[in-house]
Amino acid sequence: MADFYDILGVERDASAADIKKAYRKLARTLHPDVAGPEKSEEFKAVNEAYEVLSDEEKRRLYDIGGEEALSGAGFAPGGGFASFQDIFSAFFGGMGGAGRHTPPSRARRGQDTLVNIDLSLNDVVFGAEKTISPSLMVECPQCHGSCAAEGTEPTQCGQCEGSGMVQRVTQSLFGQMVSSGPCPACHGHGTVILNPCSECSGQGRVRAVRNITINVPAGVEEGMRIRLAGKGDAGVEGGAAGDLFAQVHIDNHPIFTRSGDDLTCELRIPMTAAALGTTMTIETLDGAQDIEIKPGTDSGEVITMPGLGVGRLHRSGRGDLRVGISVATPKKLDDAQRKLLEELTRLRGEEKPPASLTAQRESLFEKIRGRFNR
Ligand SMILES: [Zn+2]
Ligand SMILES: [Zn+2]
Repeated sequence: MADFYDILGVERDASAADIKKAYRKLARTLHPDVAGPEKSEEFKAVNEAYEVLSDEEKRRLYDIGGEEALSGAGFAPGGGFASFQDIFSAFFGGMGGAGRHTPPSRARRGQDTLVNIDLSLNDVVFGAEKTISPSLMVECPQCHGSCAAEGTEPTQCGQCEGSGMVQRVTQSLFGQMVSSGPCPACHGHGTVILNPCSECSGQGRVRAVRNITINVPAGVEEGMRIRLAGKGDAGVEGGAAGDLFAQVHIDNHPIFTRSGDDLTCELRIPMTAAALGTTMTIETLDGAQDIEIKPGTDSGEVITMPGLGVGRLHRSGRGDLRVGISVATPKKLDDAQRKLLEELTRLRGEEKPPASLTAQRESLFEKIRGRFNR
């Protein structure tokens, strides 16, 4: 085995600076990328020599007892490099690639959050302001997102000297290769937090229930997601907050059914009102409204009340309220009523009504809705 001093071409009393200088010069010409694989053994020897001579303790042991002394002290020859930075610098100039590298900040955008929002039909018809109280990640009140305990701040990482990158030398088919990667000590951030905030365990955020007001526009539909930009989970270390999505669920109304922009319901009227016509007052979502029943109104007819439907989502105006009529046939008649009806039957000559069959009519429900869908 050649002498390490001879390999580097320096005197036994060479200074650390001279050793470094000699090494850089050799490494630059012997690197497999430059000299090809045939010089890889030589390159390896230079690196081994430099690994020992650049380390004060190893050099001292080597001077006393050669490589055996190093092994005895637990330093496996060729087991690694004293300073990756030096090797890297040899190829990339003074500062090395790492000098130009700006470590990525710890800041990370918060997650998007999905919450459910229950709406009544009334909310959907007119639009509503709703307050929900989801459990979200919020900025830590103790450290305000810095992750560091009060009065402290992140300090420069000792392993990568704040660059966030370290250089590694690996063996490959073509000899030793220098590559750079994120510093394992600081995960590439260039700083380490020695005293993490106790409130958030150094996360910079805590979970908390937050009240959020949502302006629900009229006309939203079941399953729609309303996006509230920046109202989701807080970011890490000053990162932007995620978005909050409120997924709409609309409760059924006992009377009114939604059909697109329209509302539908059914109005049962007495037989006499159907025959003679009348004006009735019905309770709509807009309050009491008069509805006119024309004389001779049939079961299954639909009366449209314009503008009493659902507010339109992307347009102005509202849909209609469509009222399906069903005529209630009297079930219990007293003697006087029966006599009157029998008299009416006789006057109309309907003792034996003509039995004219027609195809089955669509149900009232289908009729109210069907006209919209057509
Ligand atoms: Zn904190
Ligand atoms: Zn580091």
